[in-house]
Parts: sequence; C-alpha cells; structure tokens
Amino acid sequence: MREPSNAIVRMKRSGIREIFDRANQIPDAIHLEMGEPDFPTPQHIRDAAARAANEGHTKYTPNAGITELREAAADKVVRRNGVEATPNQVVITPGAIAALYGTVMALCNRGDEILISDPSWPNYAMLAGLQDVRVGRYPMRPKDAMQPRADLIEPSITAKTRILLINSPCNPTGTVVDRQHMRDLLQLADEHDLWLISDEVYDEMVFDGGTAVSPATLGNHDRIISIYSFSKTYAMTGWRVGYAVAPPELAPYLIKTQEPVTACVNAPAQMAAVAALRGPQDCVNEMREAYESRRNGVMEILDRAGVPYVRPSGAFYLWIDIGGSGMNATDFARRLLEDHHVAVTPGGAFGPDSDGFVRVSLASAAGLLNEGTNRLVTALQAAHTP
Ligand code: PLP
Repeated sequence: MREPSNAIVRMKRSGIREIFDRANQIPDAIHLEMGEPDFPTPQHIRDAAARAANEGHTKYTPNAGITELREAAADKVVRRNGVEATPNQVVITPGAIAALYGTVMALCNRGDEILISDPSWPNYAMLAGLQDVRVGRYPMRPKDAMQPRADLIEPSITAKTRILLINSPCNPTGTVVDRQHMRDLLQLADEHDLWLISDEVYDEMVFDGGTAVSPATLGNHDRIISIYSFSKTYAMTGWRVGYAVAPPELAPYLIKTQEPVTACVNAPAQMAAVAALRGPQDCVNEMREAYESRRNGVMEILDRAGVPYVRPSGAFYLWIDIGGSGMNATDFARRLLEDHHVAVTPGGAFGPDSDGFVRVSLASAAGLLNEGTNRLVTALQAAHTP
C-alpha cells in the first residue's frame, strides 16, 4: 500500500477509546470510562424522528440545517444561555464534533495554532492535528480550582495563535468557569485578537442550582463561536446533532464547510432535535438530578477514604488525584482494569501534564459507580502499602 497522509498516520487514537477497547476484553468490567449517558433518548424525541421518516423527511436538507431547528436553537440560546442570536447565526452540524472541526477549518490556515487546556477532551488535539493546525496547551491547576487563568495562558500565545478554546462545564474536570475568569479570558482574546471557541456541550449539566456563564453574554460577540450539542442534554449521542452559534459574518463560512464534508445532518434527526428543544424539559432536569446524586455518592466514598479530587460543578465527570499511588495514571488505570475490573480513563489521555489523575464518568448507574469507586479506593490503598 502507498503511504496514507502524514496527518492521519500521526494522529493518536483517543485514550478513552483505547481503554474502552481493552475493557471490552473483560466481560465483567465496570465501565466508568465513557462519557455516554446511560439514559435512553426520551420517547417523545424518538417518536418525532419516526414520524418525520414516515412523513417523507428523508432528503438532503440545507447545509445550515432546517429552518425550524435553526429557529428553535436560536430561541434556546437566547432563553437558556442568555446569548443574543438569530437563526441565521445557527449552523446545525453532525454533533458538536463537526461544529468544532468546521470552525477550526473556517478559521485556521496550515501552521496556525489553537490553544487548548491541559487537561482537555482529546478530540480537540486530534481534529486540529488532522488539519495541520498546531496545538498549544495552557494549564488548569487544582490550586486554582481548575479555573483557566488568563495570566497563565498569555505566555503560550504566539504570532501564529488564532484560537483560544475553552470548555465550560469542562470534560474531564467538571469545572464551571466563573464569571470573572471568563471575563479575563475574553479580555485576553480581545488584546491578542484571537477567536474564542466556547464549547458548551454540557451547558445544561450544572449542579448545585448553578448555571454556566457563556462568554457571548459578556460582550464582544464578534470573536466568539459558541458550540452546543444534543448528545448529553437529551441523551442523543448516536443521533449526531449539534450546532454552532457564530457571528453573522462568520456563519456563512461555517455553513460552507459542511457541503464537501457532510452536506447536512440527517433529516429525521433534525426533526427529533426540534422536538427535543420545543418539547417538555423534565427529562433534562431528571438526568441532571441523577448525575448530581451520583456525584454526591462518589464524593462521599472518596471523602471517607481521604482520596483527593476536583469537586465537579457540572458535566458528568470526576477528576481524581491518584498521585498517592506512586504510579502514573496510565499504569494505575491498567492495574485497576486488570486486577479490579474497573475501567477509568487515565489523565494522560487529556494532556501530557495530566497523568497524575484519572477521570471517572458519572454516566453509569449509581450501583456500578459506587462499586467501581470502592474498588478504585482499594487499588489506591493497595498501592500505598509497600
Ligand atoms: N465537546 C466535549 C467537551 C465533549 O465531551 C464531547 C463529547 O464527549 C463533544 C464536544 C462532542 O459532542 P457530540 O456528540 O455532539 O459530537
């Protein structure tokens, strides 16, 4: 075979998938590695898709998505996120992944640079690398409660930096960026003339009665692209529907990226997404409450055992410090899987400086989650004892 492209050969697989594949070899493994809601998609959303298919909504749609969905999404970001947006600014994409990919494509030339946090969701680095966009990292540290600090980001900005990416609520740490830090980030973007991508796919998963701050509510919209998804909010991971809200002048370019790559999201899924946004929202509240209660259960186990972790204010992950094991997280996660049959994701999957932590996903039933956490504590304690 002749060589495939450098970019695809160079791209590392997601460390989350790697551990998932290994855990699948162990039939009784407890899976705490995947960020996939364990809830079914609510019935009224499934019904809307079936109805759409039966009524003949089975053709290509406009690249930007169907009008009903762009309108419903614009209404939602105004109502829920406080972001002023018109339907023309909304681009419906096959999952938030495609919104992120298309945004980087629309904003960067080869050799340009995007700044992402360490730790951060592995796909950011993968999708940038595939487009020959260089990845710079900025730290998020437990001593700052994992809040991204503008003064720690600034030294990483170069003449090539085009994009600052932030993710709140954050996968993998569960951090919700507070208003002041968000303001500082926006100011930094202003000072250095950067685009700001705000990945808000966990916007509805905020605990303790809080809400996440969208940077686009803090002024200067014309450099911000806010990205949302149906995957987590409505347990719709397999439907592949997300959207970007872009400044009016940029939206046409984002729409343009869709034609040669995906053309559009499948039509019944778009109709299902309309039903999700326009229909009852109790399902969202119920899922949020379940994640919050699972979080509380896991925190209780860790507190009792004196294991340090980052208290998550949102998303559905717990970022646990396994430094006490004397191992790096990659070795610890391997040992936990092989000896205790529990799969968690090692922090190294989220950034080179994060391999002292593991990520536990709260997207499993409470019984399994508590059992898995107890085994993790046992593994940590065993590692302590010489
Ligand atoms: N952004 C973050 C932070 C995620 O964790 C995920 C999925 O895990 C996505 C984006 C992608 O979501 P989607 O399923 O809509 O592509």
